[in-house]
Amino acid sequence: MIRSFIALALPTPIREQAKALQTKAAGLGIRCVPPENLHLTLAFLGDQPQTALEDLHPGLDAISLPPVPLQSAGVVPFSAKHQTAIALTIKDTPELSALHKAVARAVRHSGIRLERRKFRPHVTIARMASSQMASSAAQTLLAGTPPQPIAPERTDSFALYESELTPQGARYTPLADYSLR
Ligand code: ATP
Ligand code: MG
Repeated sequence: MIRSFIALALPTPIREQAKALQTKAAGLGIRCVPPENLHLTLAFLGDQPQTALEDLHPGLDAISLPPVPLQSAGVVPFSAKHQTAIALTIKDTPELSALHKAVARAVRHSGIRLERRKFRPHVTIARMASSQMASSAAQTLLAGTPPQPIAPERTDSFALYESELTPQGARYTPLADYSLR
């Protein structure tokens, strides 16, 4: 079984903004995710047999959408079912929403089940032990210099990743790249 997810590559300005926040967070003693792991998840597939990923490939490859502008929308404590984090939220534009829908459709069409949950685009900066810690960390990060609004920059690809959970943290490996044009 291959633990996998589909994510957007980050355009440089968003990546830099996330890294700047990580530097600040590190200064507060917060352990951050490795900068090379920064990403925006479009769909989490969980454990899948190799054949399921092969069946999914044509559907993802057939997605024909233009590059997607990404714009950060602030730093928030982020709490999902199984994780508490601080994250840079990304504005849910019609283009991003269309890509998310197309990816989810391709995944479901290939027979892989997806949890039905509202899409809240974000880039996880650090994982925290509790929501209380996440909310105070997000507040402290925001209190200094809030992230400056930056011009939206387009991202022109997304990818299917394998995620190996190791004692040293998650290691992501791209399995296939899909371009937006
Ligand atoms: P770790 O779990 O060791 O902290 P990680 O969360 O980076 O590492 P994964 O759990 O494999 O690694 O998750 C990969 C991506 O999918 C991450 O962006 C994560 O937030 C997201 N993700 C994980 N589980 C789910 C889920 N049940 N629903 C939606 N997204 C998820
Ligand atoms: Mg996880």
